[in-house]
Amino acid sequence: MNVHDSEKMAGILKAEGYAETANAEDADLIIFNTCSIRQKAEQKFRSELGKIKSLKSKNPLLKIAVAGCIAQQKGRDILKRSPHVDYVFGPQNIYKLGAMLTTSGMVCIEDNPDIQYSDLPSERKENIKAWVSIMYGCNNFCSYCVVPYTRGRERSRPSLNIYEEIHALAEKGFKEITLLGQNVNSYNSDTDFPGLLRKISTINGMERIRFVTSHPRDLSESLTRCIKELPKVCEHIHLPLQSGSSSILKLMNRGYTFEDYIEKVGKLRKSIPQIAITTDIIAGFPSETDKDHAETMTALKTIEFDGIYAFKYSPRAGTGAAGMENHIPEGIKAQRLDEILKLQDEITLKCNKGLEGSVQEVLVEANVKSGKGRITGRTRSNKIVSFEGDESLIGGLVNIEIKTAMRHSLEGRLVSQGKS
Ligand code: SAH
Ligand code: SF4
Repeated sequence: MNVHDSEKMAGILKAEGYAETANAEDADLIIFNTCSIRQKAEQKFRSELGKIKSLKSKNPLLKIAVAGCIAQQKGRDILKRSPHVDYVFGPQNIYKLGAMLTTSGMVCIEDNPDIQYSDLPSERKENIKAWVSIMYGCNNFCSYCVVPYTRGRERSRPSLNIYEEIHALAEKGFKEITLLGQNVNSYNSDTDFPGLLRKISTINGMERIRFVTSHPRDLSESLTRCIKELPKVCEHIHLPLQSGSSSILKLMNRGYTFEDYIEKVGKLRKSIPQIAITTDIIAGFPSETDKDHAETMTALKTIEFDGIYAFKYSPRAGTGAAGMENHIPEGIKAQRLDEILKLQDEITLKCNKGLEGSVQEVLVEANVKSGKGRITGRTRSNKIVSFEGDESLIGGLVNIEIKTAMRHSLEGRLVSQGKS
């Protein structure tokens, strides 16, 4: 979501006549698009912001902006702490960037109740795959999460605006889109999420449709039907579990138990046996016991996700969980995270090995950097595949027989071109 926000900022700047430079020294404007989902991202930003300070004495015209969720949370405090910053604006105020730059300095962190109607131009680096926002904000208030505070309430873009953006992308030759929202299953404008998928499925030239993120509580049978029935919708779902312990899930305010989750996964797999399921896990949420952690380990073994993103719990100011009792020491969080990642490594490899010998449809994206004559792309299940082939295949669909599966990628052999 942040990457796509940056594309929107780049789109606005391009329209304003700015050009991108690879060197910070050459820049007249530097924007930090920050993330505050975990402490680590915040620390990284602080150190980068400090490093850039000296550039201002070399170039007095240089303007520095801080955008994104840290900007939203800290607001004016950023200017107090770092007087070399000129502009501060949150994710709901990207549309003001052009106007902001005509002033000498500004802070924009207001709520934007009309964000769903602003169709900002995106400057995309790639020309095969694109991100497309379908909704903004979040109403879920999971107790660990800062997003509802920084990105505001849930607001869905009208389906026609989304349709038109994707149509224009297809005309430019893009082949795959990923629909973006914190909880795409609760998309709700003139239609619901399955309705939106059906509508954009009709766009000629757009070969693949993906979406992130699905909230398990709101995963409906009509969405499952869409994945099954609509040929362009890829058989992959990112369905963050967060914990295998129902008592921790309750404290997280996730709105489902582990049993609910398992039931939904069972239905998904029954209906779409080849579906890839990935997830997010948080290790060491406040009061998580060894037993809760063991339940997460059992959940990973039972479900066998294709891949996971796992993080140590990071307290975020202002969230419910930050004020909870029994925070887990860093060392234990790290140990649990390590166990989770090690276990999942084996499972990911096992899932990938299961694909050996199968033929997979791959959208070819690029040359392999290190290997001459090799190209790479992704399966419908979002796995990376490399194989020998001519770069003229880039941007097209091919069928690849999987020869060797590794943990992070697959190697295969070109069988045929075109749709499978
Ligand atoms: N809207 C998505 C998630 C967005 S944040 C959803 O509900 O699934 C992406 C992931 O970051 C979350 O799934 C969660 O696993 C992780 N995350 C969010 N806040 C966190 C925190 N305070 N500490 C550790 N991980 C966190
Ligand atoms: Fe955060 Fe929960 Fe909203 Fe996801 S659904 S963005 S984890 S509050």
